[in-house]
Amino acid sequence: MRYALDADPVITLTSGPVNAYPDVLRALARTVLYDYDPAFQLHYEQVIGKMQTAMRTSNRPVILHGEPVLGLEAAAASLITADDTVLNLASGVYGKGFGYWAARYSPNQLEIEVPYNQAIDPQQVADMLKANPAISVVAVCHHDTPSGTINPIDEIGAIVADHGAYLIVDAVSSFGGMKTHPEDCKADIYVTGPNKCLGAPPALTMLGVSERAWQKMKDNPAAPRASMLSILDWENAWSRDEAFPFTPSVAEVNGLDVALDLYLAEGPEAVWARHALTAAATRAGILAMGLDLWAADAAIASPTTTAVRTPEGIDEAKLRATVRERYGVVMSSGRGETLGKLTRIGHMGPTAQPIYAIAALTAFGGALQALGHPAPVGKAIDAALAVIDAAA
Ligand SMILES: *Cc1c(COP(=O)(O)O)cnc(C)c1O
Repeated sequence: MRYALDADPVITLTSGPVNAYPDVLRALARTVLYDYDPAFQLHYEQVIGKMQTAMRTSNRPVILHGEPVLGLEAAAASLITADDTVLNLASGVYGKGFGYWAARYSPNQLEIEVPYNQAIDPQQVADMLKANPAISVVAVCHHDTPSGTINPIDEIGAIVADHGAYLIVDAVSSFGGMKTHPEDCKADIYVTGPNKCLGAPPALTMLGVSERAWQKMKDNPAAPRASMLSILDWENAWSRDEAFPFTPSVAEVNGLDVALDLYLAEGPEAVWARHALTAAATRAGILAMGLDLWAADAAIASPTTTAVRTPEGIDEAKLRATVRERYGVVMSSGRGETLGKLTRIGHMGPTAQPIYAIAALTAFGGALQALGHPAPVGKAIDAALAVIDAAA
């Protein structure tokens, strides 16, 4: 059997975007209401309310109408001024990348960078802040997806808050898949989206914004207005009585609405638990096959992605192509620095189900064997089942 590489896969087990929940797909097919129809304005206000519940924040969150890179870039453009000293924390490609946006708005930049299979040490952040009292903005990526590793943002956030600096958090690929909320980490701007653990398509940014971040943006004359990059333009758009700065992505808002309903109805704790269990089962299987996790320490491996170090002598692109061609399964490569060094198996939204650990291990192990690398798949399945059964 060969699956054509240009045909739809059987299963997508990537680290985002992921396939959407069937109910979300159906919501995308709803009538496209006129944005100033009172029915849509009320709906929009209600979706923002559900976001606020899901994000467990006392401030009203914001939707920006582009996938989360828009939110990250908008956060840098709106919050950071030339008077700020920015501390960028880089433990991977996304964390590093934020520094380049930040550098557009302030020349004063410091960075802590660790190898991309490690996490940021909060003590190092505390030391850096102490040595550089001028630091006024700190940026951190929670789950640096191309590494599959988690930074301790709640601890980092507490340290940054003590110092008084503003905190920008990229939680795009962790929110909804594990316990993380804007106020848990004391974020001033918390960027996430529907297209990873909430199981909706890529098209929107979900932003948590603190009171003082609104104030800092308003005090910044260079903060974008009348622009796609503007956060300020959307401050009051949540209200059915206010105008939208431009047309919102109506169908995508419908999809987000149902994704939030599913998340809240299942119960966030239950959703996080199936992400964690799927990751644990996958990891047990990977180790049982004699393979290595990318993360230097299993404790920092994300519950929403398992990054597997590419065995010596294996071409990673060929490995993924074999997984796709033989078994119809799609996995993610690394990016930038991690490209070619690891393969990522996503556990996000609809694919955060333990049975997908079995599918991933079978396809990955099978492909390795096809490329001549020993991969005892039976042992992997036994190990994964032991984890799944222990949780039953
Ligand atoms: C997916 C993701 C984003 C959104 O960016 P894309 O590369 O366009 O998908 C931002 N930050 C993180 C950590 C992500 O995983």
